[in-house]
Amino acid sequence: CGIVGYVGEKQAQDVVIEGLRRLEYRGYDSAGIALVDTAAGAGTIASDKRAGKLANLEKAIGEAPLPPATTGIGHTRWATHGAPNDVNAHPHLGQVRRVAVVHNGILENFAVLRAELEAAGHELTSETDTEVAAHLLENEVRAGADLTTAMQRVCQRLEGAFTLVAVDAEDPSRVVAARRNSPLVVGLGEGENFIGSDVAAFIEHTREALELGQDEVVTITREGVEVTGFDGSPAEGKRYHVDWDLSA
Ligand code: GLU
Repeated sequence: CGIVGYVGEKQAQDVVIEGLRRLEYRGYDSAGIALVDTAAGAGTIASDKRAGKLANLEKAIGEAPLPPATTGIGHTRWATHGAPNDVNAHPHLGQVRRVAVVHNGILENFAVLRAELEAAGHELTSETDTEVAAHLLENEVRAGADLTTAMQRVCQRLEGAFTLVAVDAEDPSRVVAARRNSPLVVGLGEGENFIGSDVAAFIEHTREALELGQDEVVTITREGVEVTGFDGSPAEGKRYHVDWDLSA
């Protein structure tokens, strides 16, 4: 339902939670966050997710704090596949917890993909359509692709409507997102960049935005933004300035 992604110099946890709060008006049944924790040298994913209001997630994080991190993603869920509970809440992680994914929409062919993954020995823990995307992306990066290439490849296999946003524990420099029949906006900052399901996700930080076209993948780093088609061909997105009143 609501999506936030961040890479920059600020604490990603603060930016993500704040963004999710701004997206609460859309309605949701669960909330979650994943950060790339680089404190221990090689990165790991630190994540928490809870059914119910954002306040439940904040309480959980208050009791068991997440590590400092400057790359992260967050989600408020409106369940379509699987009950609204802690396990089905996003982010979803791959088999070895290297890739974390949040998703808006519906992956129509998830059952086929899930069967294929399970036949290859993957254990999926949720009832969601989303979890297959985490496992497929993780397979690609473990085979040597960067997360951008992984996203391009995986999106070519997905059917349905989706906004996907992912992080790779071993590459804290980027957040990668993709869209088909579901909204995705990039917030352009200085030394930081943002992903949102709508501009409310980052309006406190920047009013410079980039709207993605259909079937496009975007990679944000601290320094810049790169857009391509699902086939890897270069694309540009549409730049615009958000001039609506923040108090509205
Ligand atoms: N289909 C996904 C799920 O049920 C995403 C729902 C959403 O858009 O929040 O978990």
